[in-house]
Amino acid sequence: MIAFDNSFARLPDRMFTRLDPTPVAEPRMLAHNDALARLLGIDTAWLASPAAAQVLAGNTVPDGAAPLAQLYAGHQFGNWNPQLGDGRAILLGEVVGTDGLRRDIQLKGAGPTPYSRSGDGRAWLGPVLREYLVSEAMAAMGIPTTRALAAVATGESVYRETALPGAVLTRVAASHIRVGSFQVHAARQDTDALRALADHVIARHYPNADGIPGLLDAVVTAQASLIARWMGAGFIHGVMNTDNMAISGETIDYGPCAFMDAYDPQQVFSSIDRQGRYAYANQPGIALWNIAQLATALIPLMPDQDAAVDDFTTRINRFSDLYQSAWLQVFGAKIGIADAGAKDADLIQRLLTLMAESGADFTQTFADLATTDLPDGITDRDAFARWADDWHDRRSPDHAALMDRANPRIIPRNHRVEEVIAAAVAGNMAPFDTLLRAVTAPYAPLDAERADLAAPPTPAEIVTATF
Ligand code: AMP
Ligand code: MG
Ligand code: MG
Repeated sequence: MIAFDNSFARLPDRMFTRLDPTPVAEPRMLAHNDALARLLGIDTAWLASPAAAQVLAGNTVPDGAAPLAQLYAGHQFGNWNPQLGDGRAILLGEVVGTDGLRRDIQLKGAGPTPYSRSGDGRAWLGPVLREYLVSEAMAAMGIPTTRALAAVATGESVYRETALPGAVLTRVAASHIRVGSFQVHAARQDTDALRALADHVIARHYPNADGIPGLLDAVVTAQASLIARWMGAGFIHGVMNTDNMAISGETIDYGPCAFMDAYDPQQVFSSIDRQGRYAYANQPGIALWNIAQLATALIPLMPDQDAAVDDFTTRINRFSDLYQSAWLQVFGAKIGIADAGAKDADLIQRLLTLMAESGADFTQTFADLATTDLPDGITDRDAFARWADDWHDRRSPDHAALMDRANPRIIPRNHRVEEVIAAAVAGNMAPFDTLLRAVTAPYAPLDAERADLAAPPTPAEIVTATF
């Protein structure tokens, strides 16, 4: 069924707690991902079977699994929390895929753990389906991300403000090791655990890294590239706490995240982010702040710690240049400029300013740019015409093909995600299936059905919080 090969479970056992998922009343498969299963070497016939629903709801622990909840700490909205950990997620184990890459298979919403604090250890259907759609859309755009293998209904209610249907998401990740996974051992002055974790991460994610400084460099590079990709997709993560930043460089922990509709650099979709700490435009700065926390946690591993502080500061500060060149690559491609450089920053920024001033739709503006004289929603026709003159002078000969590959025609719009969740709660998964099919082909042409799903919300349809 699943050929487990567990490496994290062999690390010192103070890094986690072994425990099985808590069984649920009535597992029922809601959605499963055959393409991902094939990559993992999992039989798709099995994945569609009732036996798989039992395993992926946590009712049966499969042979070879070594279930555990991981320990970590983290800065939440900048405030230090010395102990977090998987409060509702249980790692079943790891598999090595047909591509040779090792991945975690984790059940999210699998019941309480020693790290649940006041939480119930469960997830409800809404966030499970949101994560499924958004993470698979990100993957389809080639943005590093955790994936969704399955969503299983539990047949039990979860109580948030009201009773809601429970679900478990099977999340697949290069690993679930976070900045906070290092922070917890640094805070406990447990240098042995810290070293074992660093060795594990280097072997697993960055085998070419030269020691701890090399690990830090690799994370800086991966995150600079990742955040630039988020920005290019109009993606707002929403909770960039240090426990929600993966060392692997994958996007992880889809909570109050969103693809923005109208372009607004200060946009936030999290109902608790009242200061806008994790607003769209703040994401690169927050990533850098989080990396600084990682560097701090790695210092105890260095023989000369005073020298390491200076050295790490230099390494962290590479982030800004790396991010800026990744951003130029990403946004250059979006306007049909191959190998954009610093001299192109102004052209890109002028377009973004026009978009912000008129509240133009982020995704649609870029998708339409190559084929329209004035994108929908851009109000200053003259300023746009002046911009377009300069753009025509600068863009690459093959700009149309470049833009087709860089600009998704469809992303999971917040109002569409809400619609499919409402239908799923009412027992109808067909709208979810349709939307999933659409957003996992982001660059394909729009037929009538896809065009409807791709369109920006009407004023009445706008979703302002994704909780
Ligand atoms: P997040 O904001 O999703 O990164 O979660 C922060 C912490 O709260 C993590 O340690 C989660 O495991 C934990 N947590 C979130 N929701 C629940 C829940 N329903 N039950 C138990 N723990 C939870
Ligand atoms: Mg989290
Ligand atoms: Mg979460």
